[in-house]
Amino acid sequence: MTVRQASCSCGRLRLACSGEPLRISVCHCLECQRRTGSAFGAQARFPKNKVDFIAGDPRTFDRVGDSGGKATFRFCGDCGATVWYTIDDQPDLVAVTLGAFADPAFPPPRFSVYEERKHAWVGIKEIEPVDRIW
Ligand SMILES: [Zn+2]
Ligand SMILES: [Zn+2]
Repeated sequence: MTVRQASCSCGRLRLACSGEPLRISVCHCLECQRRTGSAFGAQARFPKNKVDFIAGDPRTFDRVGDSGGKATFRFCGDCGATVWYTIDDQPDLVAVTLGAFADPAFPPPRFSVYEERKHAWVGIKEIEPVDRIW
């Protein structure tokens, strides 16, 4: 089975994901833009029981989305990079930030959320706009 490691910038916060992600998506919402410092967020959701938390003591940031659901972001207190988050409505899933894998061969996203807030220059191949985070 494929095992992929995700890490923050400094490497103190790390986890490993077994098998393929259930869903890979991008989110163009303004909060994801702020959180990532990029034009959009990209994340891969795994079943919680396929994720091993290897190292680190993450700090957390809670955010309540437009839909009223709460997300808790886990980030490194040393370098600040977010490595994963969980959503209260989806307790059996862990969303791992795609960039934390630092793997250009990682499978591509297929779903796109908050397209109305997308930067005009962004274009992603073979992607389907969807309304909900999940
Ligand atoms: Zn770090
Ligand atoms: Zn977002």
